[in-house]
Amino acid sequence: MQAKTLAIHAGYEKDAQNTMAVPIYQSTAYEFRDTAHAADLFALKELGNIYTRLMNPTTDVFEKRFAILEGGVAAIGTASGMAAIFYTIANVAEAGDNIIIAKQVYGGTTTLTGHTLKRFGIETRYFDVRNPSEIEALIDDKSKIILFESITNPSIDVADFDAIVSIANKHHILTCVDNTVATPILFSPFEYGVDVTVHSTSKYTTGQGLALGGIIVERENLVDKIKDNPRYKHFNTPDESYHGLVYSDLPLPLFTLRVRLALLRDLGGAPSPFNSWLHIQGLETLPLRMRQHSDSALSIATFLEKHPKVKKVNYPGLHTSAQYPLVKKYFKNEMASGLLSFEVENKEMAQKIADATDIFSVVVNIGDSKSIITHPASTTHQQLSAKELEEAGVPGGLIRLSVGLEDTQDLLDDLAKALG
Ligand SMILES: *Cc1c(COP(=O)(O)O)cnc(C)c1O
Repeated sequence: MQAKTLAIHAGYEKDAQNTMAVPIYQSTAYEFRDTAHAADLFALKELGNIYTRLMNPTTDVFEKRFAILEGGVAAIGTASGMAAIFYTIANVAEAGDNIIIAKQVYGGTTTLTGHTLKRFGIETRYFDVRNPSEIEALIDDKSKIILFESITNPSIDVADFDAIVSIANKHHILTCVDNTVATPILFSPFEYGVDVTVHSTSKYTTGQGLALGGIIVERENLVDKIKDNPRYKHFNTPDESYHGLVYSDLPLPLFTLRVRLALLRDLGGAPSPFNSWLHIQGLETLPLRMRQHSDSALSIATFLEKHPKVKKVNYPGLHTSAQYPLVKKYFKNEMASGLLSFEVENKEMAQKIADATDIFSVVVNIGDSKSIITHPASTTHQQLSAKELEEAGVPGGLIRLSVGLEDTQDLLDDLAKALG
C-alpha cells in the first residue's frame, strides 16, 4: 500500500466500540486479569499494557503507523524530539564512550551533545555533513553511533547517505538519521541502510504547531548488526535491571524495546495519550501536506533566486542547487520539504525584511501550516560572534523560512512587498 493509504489506516484495529476515529485512551494504568497475568506481563512472557510510562493504546497506534510509514519494524514515542535523541544516544553510549555527529544539526542536539552529555562522560566528535570522508578518522572502538540529519537546519544541506552508511558498516557502527524535516513521506532512510531514525514529531507530523512529540524507529533485522558486536555489550550481556534479560536473544525488535523497558522506565519522558492522538490526526494528512509544502517552497526559492536583493538561496529542490543531485537520488518525487534559507546584504536588512512580512510570523519553529520567518543571528544563534556565525554557516544576513500551507501567490506577494 502507498503512503497516503497507510497514513490513514495503518496500525489501527478497531476495539469493541468500532470507532472510526482512534480513541484517546486517557489512562495511567491497566487492570491485570489476575496476579499471574501481571507477573507474565512483567516477565515479558506475554505482551500487554502495564502502565502509561511504558505503553499506551493510543500511542501504540501512532507508533505502529509511523513505523510502517517509515519502513521500519518498530517505533517508540517520546514526549519530545529531544527526548527521542537523548534516549537513542543513551541506549548505546555510556561514560567513556564517544558518538560521532554532523556539525550541521538542530541547536538542541548541539547543546545536548556538546554540554549535557559531556557532563555524563560521553564525548562528541563532529564531522562536516558535506564531507563524509572526515568520519573515518573519528571512529575508534568506543564510538557508538553516527548521527546526522537528512535535511539540516538552518543550513539546509542534504546528507549523502550511501557515503556515510558505507563507512559506518565497514566499522560495524550504528547510524541514526534525524528525519524530522524530510519526514517518512520524502525520504525512507532504511532503504539506504540506515539503522535507526529519530524525529521531532512536533514539526511536520503534527503539522499545525499543536503538540510536542518525538519518535524512534528501528529497521528490520537490526539484531544482525548488534548480535555479538563488541561495541554493543548492553544488548549482548544480561541486563541486571531486568532479570538478566539479554536483548539480542529476544525474537523482538531490540533497539526500541530497550528504550521502552530501560530508559522510559527509568527516565520517564513518555508521550501523553492526547498528544499521541493529535499526532495520529497529523499523520492522516502528512502526504498531502508535504507535497504542498515542497511545491510552495520551490516556487518561493525560484522567486528569491531572481530577486536583486538576495545574494544566495539555499533550497536543495532548486535545480541550480549543488544539493539537487542528492535530492534527485534519494528523495521521493524530488520533494525537498518546506524549509529554505536565503541571504541578504546584512543583519539590519534581514531584520527589516522579517519585520515587514504580514503572513509570515517571526517564530522559532518549523513544519507548521502557518508560514514562519526566522532570523537566526538575532534568535537561535544570538550568542555567537560575527566570526562564529560565519563558521556555523549562519551569516548575519541569513533568513530562514518555513513555508506553510497558505496560498503560494499570497506568500510570494508578502515576500515581494517585504523585500521592497
Ligand atoms: C525541533 C527539532 C528537534 C527537537 O525536537 P523537540 O520536539 O522540539 O524536542 C530535533 N531535531 C530537529 C531536526 C528539529 O527540528
